[in-house]
Amino acid sequence: MTAVASARSILTQLHELMASRMHAQGKLNQVVDIIGEALSSEVCSIYLLREGMLELYATRGLNQDAVHVTRMAISEGLTGTIAQNVETLNLAEAAAHPEFQYRPETGEEKFHSFAGVPIVRRERAVGVLTVQHVDPRRYDEVEIEALQTVAMVLAELIHNAGLVDDEGASGLSPAHSGQEILHGLTLVSGLASGNAVFHQPRVTIEHTVAEDTETERQRVYLAFDKMREQIDTMTNQAEFGVGGEHEEVLETYKMFAYDEGWSRRINEAIDSGLTAEAAIERVQQRTRMRMRQIDDPLLADRMHDLEDLSNRLLRIVSGQLGTAASTGLRGDTILIARNLGPAELLEYDKRRLKGVVLEEGSLTAHVVIVARAMGVPVVGRVRNLRGLIREGDPMLLDGSAGQVTLRPLPGMIDTFETRFARSKQRQAAYAKLRDVEPFTRDGQRVQVMMNAGLRDDIPMLSLTGADGIGLFRTEFQFLVSAALPQRERQMRLYRDVLEAAGKKPVIFRTVDIGGDKSLPYLRSESSREDENPAMGWRALRLALEREGLLKSQARALIEAAAGKTLNVMFPMVSEPWEFDAAHAVFQAQLAFLKRQKRRLPQEIRYGVMLEVPSLAEMLDVLMPKLSFISIGTNDLTQFLFAADRANPKLAERYDWLSPSILRFIRRVVGSTTGYPVDLGVCGEMGGRRLEALALIGIGLRRFSITPAAVGPIKELVRKVDTAEIGAAMSAWLAAPPPDLRAALQQWAEDRDIEVE
Ligand code: PEP
Ligand code: MG
Repeated sequence: MTAVASARSILTQLHELMASRMHAQGKLNQVVDIIGEALSSEVCSIYLLREGMLELYATRGLNQDAVHVTRMAISEGLTGTIAQNVETLNLAEAAAHPEFQYRPETGEEKFHSFAGVPIVRRERAVGVLTVQHVDPRRYDEVEIEALQTVAMVLAELIHNAGLVDDEGASGLSPAHSGQEILHGLTLVSGLASGNAVFHQPRVTIEHTVAEDTETERQRVYLAFDKMREQIDTMTNQAEFGVGGEHEEVLETYKMFAYDEGWSRRINEAIDSGLTAEAAIERVQQRTRMRMRQIDDPLLADRMHDLEDLSNRLLRIVSGQLGTAASTGLRGDTILIARNLGPAELLEYDKRRLKGVVLEEGSLTAHVVIVARAMGVPVVGRVRNLRGLIREGDPMLLDGSAGQVTLRPLPGMIDTFETRFARSKQRQAAYAKLRDVEPFTRDGQRVQVMMNAGLRDDIPMLSLTGADGIGLFRTEFQFLVSAALPQRERQMRLYRDVLEAAGKKPVIFRTVDIGGDKSLPYLRSESSREDENPAMGWRALRLALEREGLLKSQARALIEAAAGKTLNVMFPMVSEPWEFDAAHAVFQAQLAFLKRQKRRLPQEIRYGVMLEVPSLAEMLDVLMPKLSFISIGTNDLTQFLFAADRANPKLAERYDWLSPSILRFIRRVVGSTTGYPVDLGVCGEMGGRRLEALALIGIGLRRFSITPAAVGPIKELVRKVDTAEIGAAMSAWLAAPPPDLRAALQQWAEDRDIEVE
């Protein structure tokens, strides 16, 4: 009999049985008979996980008295080994296996051969299906295949009958048990603990036995079509850049997506009577088992690609397309993803999202900026992440050390909790600085403002005691909306922000859409299709052409600031005329509202972000028209170094403390001296203590940073003597030491200035 035929004949019988109204135990009793009969085995038994033990639930051939009596721990005996390793055993002589354990109550001594397969749900063994017979011979491949297929169907039956506790199932494979520490890159500091949740959840299969094979075949066929289309679109979209890691990944994807062998195996599984979902999963299980025997890291990587793709296919076929955000988080969560967009992150429930771990990611990617603003620690660049973690695994995340602990041991948890407490103390110390104005030791007042972008950020202003909002990223409201926010809604947000800020200034930056902040409802026109989105049609470039967008934002801002001071800042200004054009849009709206006799702002102050290097050469022309300039170091560095800020391969390559950046910024400081223009920094660089120290040293006195950094930077300011750090920076920038970061660190250490 072929595997297909034998599985199919069993499945047909199981299908009828499952549909019958019999109670679960009765069904199990019949299942063992059906399988035993089909595989001509004297014995067929089902063990299920109950209260952490494998319990004999049904048997044909062993003593019936042993049912619900024989119980063994996971890892105990052959059955336990199968559950623990989530692997199949096929033995001619059971007693010859080192893990064999004899259970006299079962009367199994007369049976020699033994085969068993795990019953798996959500990648964990929830039970074991075994067959035994008298002759000492191994079962053939065909029979094992049939057993494995049947085990899938059993998983469904058992789950529906509520016979095992799926959630608590603990059949762990060796790769998935015990504590494991993974290392990555610190993207957002901080500590967090919670359970792993995959951003793209694995699909749970509800139905395994097909009603109609032809329908299932058709479903898989269409799903393959759709998946290939998606992969082709992804590959063709230049958003991934050329020659990068993404490209390799996509090429492999493409190879797998078009692999005829893969689709053929799925079709064979459908022929055996499985639904499309079950067939995809069945083939994946088989591949997983094969791959596990090959210890090759390269292959393991490929395996994850295939897992990804298989999961994608499953999601398409089952219509379960949402991310974990759409199903909602249930408890403290550490989110696991290859990468995320800022809008995707914002969909999560902030109260439950405690940390994020990414396989990719870089310091200035917008998702990371958003996470920082949310106070969610992030570790990035963790290789092989999704291969090592399983949904629900307990995790400790140490953002500061770039470290993730999976399934922590009690000792580790204790240490972590101690550190948690210490970090809370430190937070409390920063909170004490809330109402303290940050003066340097030599009496210079440094402005420490905060960055914001959402309504939820507003309370941070009073909590941190920041000097104002130095960068309000208005596009965040656009990112979290399903459609372009109407003017009225924009206006309400701006008005509420201004109200909450009271006398403190708020600098509203007009929308910076494009780059890694693409909007689904603008996608067809936005720069996602640009070859270099960060240098593409984004920010003011886009806003000036979509004039309606800028006009309505201008109107919303002017209306919101009635009777107050409005600070407007334009992003990505590259040449002075762009500022003039944007300025004109605002002035036209102002004139319009004036004609309407509406209440106007007391004053409108205009400013630009300096993030495109070309603007630095033209400051003398622009400065008379400006009230302030804010240096956006995130973009500025990517343009100075020609290094994509979102490219994970470049994440660690260039240092903010490089003489070239610092000399550049110092030159900007020099060219604004003497003008009545406020100059500040609003990139992520300013929120790091060592970097902030260097910036103070080259003359910056105004920072706008992520809220969590306000306390630490205020504290730093109070320890600094500007003349002293100024002299040190002058010397270093005149003759740069080989490692400026190290030099600065030493300098700070010598003066007892904590910089980490
Ligand atoms: C910057 O580029 O430094 C900046 C603050 O703007 P954004 O990160 O939003 O591009
Ligand atoms: Mg920018």
